Amino acid sequence: MLNEKVALITGSTSGIGLATAHVLAAKGINLVLHGLMSPSEGEKLANDFSAKYGIKALFDGANLADVESIKRLIQNAVDKMGSVDILINNAGIQHTESAENFPLEKWNAIIAINLSAAFHAIQYSLPNMKSKGWGRIINVASVHGLVGSVNKSAYCAAKHGLVGLTKVLALECAEQGITVNAICPGWVDTPLINDQISSIAKQQDITFDEAKYKLVTAKQPLPEMMAPEQIGEFILFLCSDSARSITGSALPMDGAWTAQ
Ligand code: NAD
Repeated sequence: MLNEKVALITGSTSGIGLATAHVLAAKGINLVLHGLMSPSEGEKLANDFSAKYGIKALFDGANLADVESIKRLIQNAVDKMGSVDILINNAGIQHTESAENFPLEKWNAIIAINLSAAFHAIQYSLPNMKSKGWGRIINVASVHGLVGSVNKSAYCAAKHGLVGLTKVLALECAEQGITVNAICPGWVDTPLINDQISSIAKQQDITFDEAKYKLVTAKQPLPEMMAPEQIGEFILFLCSDSARSITGSALPMDGAWTAQ
């Protein structure tokens, strides 16, 4: 059923987005790959996906901090691939600092990339999805869309906003065959969290791996990081027909972090 659909995954040059791209491509889903990468590296990535999985793949390096670039990203995807049936708003950035000392440019960048970009991508994708009477919108939020943590004011504000946006879009799309959900992961083993691990290692004079364990177990009862592929498999399920009644949900995948 998903064979021949087109998925646009923002931030699919790394981490969760890249792993999800592999999971979806293995099921024959055509891809618009996206992220901060040079055009030649991006073209190579898309060609590698096409060769490995026999799918159509396209790369776009749109900067999500710029609204016009997001508009062009969606338009380009629809023009070249025929549609955007599955939109995965995954790209995100992090900066940790107390609210009192949080740099304004970091606040603005996190809100723009982690929250506003998802709104713009959804807004520009909806006419195409509605014309087909089918769509899947999956917003990669975080446990920080459900609970707070110190030094993450911008990230938590953006991710809570993304959960709210998910609920509203699910209501607005409920009769159009389009589901809208947010996934709320705990710790996932990707480059996004390396700065946080390195900073603990430095402060406490311990190894990177020891710091990683400390970071995970500080809040997450399950004492291991998730592999990004696990999120990809969950996203694949949300795209399936079996998941057509799951909409408007903020789905934790967090090793019992938010069960406390
Ligand atoms: P990552 O750093 O491995 O990948 C981030 C991706 O976003 C990259 O492809 C990057 O190029 C892209 N990106 C960043 N800024 C961009 C911009 N201005 N324009 C276009 N693309 C941009 O991170 P990840 O851990 O895979 O994170 C993916 C999502 O998962 C993020 O939204 C993150 O908040 C969320 N998340 C991650 C974790 C975790 O523990 N890693 C936990 C919960 C939620």
